[in-house]
Amino acid sequence: MDAALKQKILAYNAQVPRYTSYPTAPHFNEMDAAGYVPWLQTLDAAAGAVSVYIHVPFCTEMCWYCGCHTTATKRYAPVEDYVSLLLREMKMVAAQLPARLSVSHIHFGGGSPSMLHPEDFTRIMQTLRALFDVTADAEIAIEADPRGITHDRAENYAAMGVNRASFGIQDFSPAVQAAINRPQSYDVVARAAEKLRAFGINKLNFDLMYGLPRQMLGDAAETARLAMTLSPQRVALFGYAHVPWMKKHMRLIKDEDLPDAGLRLDQFAAAEEVMLAAGMAAVGLDHFCMAGDDMIAARDGKKLARNFQGYTTDSAPVLLGFGLSSIGRLPQGFVQNAAHITAYSEAVLAGQMPAARGCEINAEDSLRGEIISDLMCYLAADVGAILGAHGRSAGDFDDVIAGLSGLCADGLAVIDGRRVSVLPEARQMVRVLAARFDAYFTDAPKRHVQAA
Ligand code: SF4
Repeated sequence: MDAALKQKILAYNAQVPRYTSYPTAPHFNEMDAAGYVPWLQTLDAAAGAVSVYIHVPFCTEMCWYCGCHTTATKRYAPVEDYVSLLLREMKMVAAQLPARLSVSHIHFGGGSPSMLHPEDFTRIMQTLRALFDVTADAEIAIEADPRGITHDRAENYAAMGVNRASFGIQDFSPAVQAAINRPQSYDVVARAAEKLRAFGINKLNFDLMYGLPRQMLGDAAETARLAMTLSPQRVALFGYAHVPWMKKHMRLIKDEDLPDAGLRLDQFAAAEEVMLAAGMAAVGLDHFCMAGDDMIAARDGKKLARNFQGYTTDSAPVLLGFGLSSIGRLPQGFVQNAAHITAYSEAVLAGQMPAARGCEINAEDSLRGEIISDLMCYLAADVGAILGAHGRSAGDFDDVIAGLSGLCADGLAVIDGRRVSVLPEARQMVRVLAARFDAYFTDAPKRHVQAA
């Protein structure tokens, strides 16, 4: 990365949210079934298909960089018990709906949903199909640990309609893998991709990371190069967020092994260069897609959305979340399930919806959320037009826009009338810009992660 540009980005580097929702999850309040059930009861089948997210909070081993809600277990019994709870929760939610709903997207996240034995994955899919009308062209996606992809699992996914899988790769360097406790060779990933493709599951997403302990500049580029040889359809290039005060296992990563912010920027730029040269197009803050991918069309057609998994082409207005810590989105707002297994299982076994937190969205949230979503998806937002569409005066955020003049003077952002944008080469700054429109944002230390 150009040294002058890097210095300018670093001058504005700050701890800011990732903006996978607005308001962001730390601003959710206490909320229980009594708050959630009336929302479910107003859902209208005529409003179109909904999306479903299913969280599987188990992994066979803990990766030290992990920021997910998950627990390591060598035994399968807790996973099997959890599946029974999930099925009960799904039935409880479906019983509250005023009509049978269509489902156009199903996403299995975690944790490692690929830990599920084929018979349990089948039970979940069969229950979903019994409770909802899963559309013929539904996207059914699973986050998969390549190390756990067997012939039987691949066959089971295909039989259950899975048509997209994402692999956590992070970095292929053995030194980095040792420093994050995720040993996983290129051959393991290649074989997992081969197994899924043999059963027709061709839409493969890879997650790569920069900013990892002991990761050199060359590692990020070489990992991207090796990833390209496996022809993924999409790549998400995430920055490692070191938050040992929130995730205790991150204490196993030594601070002195972490690259500094300048090297992180160089790592992103090096991996990006490899992927662009391989024919991928950049989307949003950190995604890359092969030509022809529908995410590029969604970006160009202003239909891209952002959810808790990152960028998505899923435009369904309703997301039903199932499982521990899962977050749902309804027209009224967000709802999150209990994040501890004891609270989750006690509620489900008592026949109660396990909702624990949530946030009702008001008109101001909706307005600011649209500006922030446009910034995150397109690196630009026409603030005046969005204000007008919400029945507000076009000049209502002129003070916020004026506050961006420093970023513009430094060549990182552009103000054109009331349209604000970030230059693609300074895309890390988009979260900094978004935070200026966030009414809840406070720069309390250790609350968020660095933008760069
Ligand atoms: S496999 Fe994924 S979810 Fe599980 S510990 Fe590793 S990073 Fe976290």
